[in-house]
Amino acid sequence: MPSIIPSSASAYRGRLAPSPTGYLHVGHARTFFTAWQRARDAAGSLVMRMEDLDPDRCRAEYARAALEDLRWLGIRWHEGPDKGGPFAPYEQSRRHYIYLAAWRRLLRGGFIYPCHCSRKDLAAALSAPHENSHDKLEPLDDEPVYPGICRPSQNTAAQAPSLAGQKLDDPGPTNWRFRVPDGETIEFNDLNLGPQRFVAGVDFGDFVVWRRDGVPSYQLACVADDAAMRITEVVRGADLLKSTARQILLHRALGFDNPGWFHCRLVVDHNGRRLAKRHDALSLRALRQRGLTPMNILSAELPLEA
Ligand SMILES: [Zn+2]
Repeated sequence: MPSIIPSSASAYRGRLAPSPTGYLHVGHARTFFTAWQRARDAAGSLVMRMEDLDPDRCRAEYARAALEDLRWLGIRWHEGPDKGGPFAPYEQSRRHYIYLAAWRRLLRGGFIYPCHCSRKDLAAALSAPHENSHDKLEPLDDEPVYPGICRPSQNTAAQAPSLAGQKLDDPGPTNWRFRVPDGETIEFNDLNLGPQRFVAGVDFGDFVVWRRDGVPSYQLACVADDAAMRITEVVRGADLLKSTARQILLHRALGFDNPGWFHCRLVVDHNGRRLAKRHDALSLRALRQRGLTPMNILSAELPLEA
């Protein structure tokens, strides 16, 4: 199992961004291993970033386990919570000021608006029966198009001065949404899956960038960090393809360059469902306890029997 640390002679900067909401499983192993391989092949740097923003779902125990499991797989990184580095801190829970700065920039630019809808309001507005998607995709990536209840009627750019005029420096206990350019086609060439195409306002709607409980959204934190940490290529699961379209809009609004995108095919279980952290029997810990080696896990025919 290779474990040589790539040199950082090239400009390539990749990242590993586990979310410590459970133990890593086979699907994560393959995606993270691919990220490591691509950084190594480019003789680039690899950053470990712990995406521990959500205090309700993240646990320190899972963060520790993620680092341990990835090391066991043979994956090594140059910068991270355990090593430090020029872009520290590497835990999202300690980077609030970065996200707040990005939120302010979006506000000043007229890209976002406050949304007071409760979950109940949204469910009522989206009265058409909605398939429960929680078992298939992250709700984040698959949320229904926002029906526009709180969306300002004017162009947000025209609204910006009035919002900026309030000298709003803090999001307060309110959700904030990014206004997507309805009808615009967002295209990108995925380095693994080829050309991708999503239409704003159709495939996805105005999305939350800041939550009323004071937590920045995954989309905002991810974009702010990828730019701040000078990431040149994002390797992650194909469940986030639609999020990439959203993030391209955020990169543009914030004046950041897009990184390259490389989405890995998802590992599915024998029912054809993507692996989730609830598949405990396919967690790296469980497989390791059953005597499987990293090579077994990375090369085995899947789906593995749970
Ligand atoms: Zn609303």
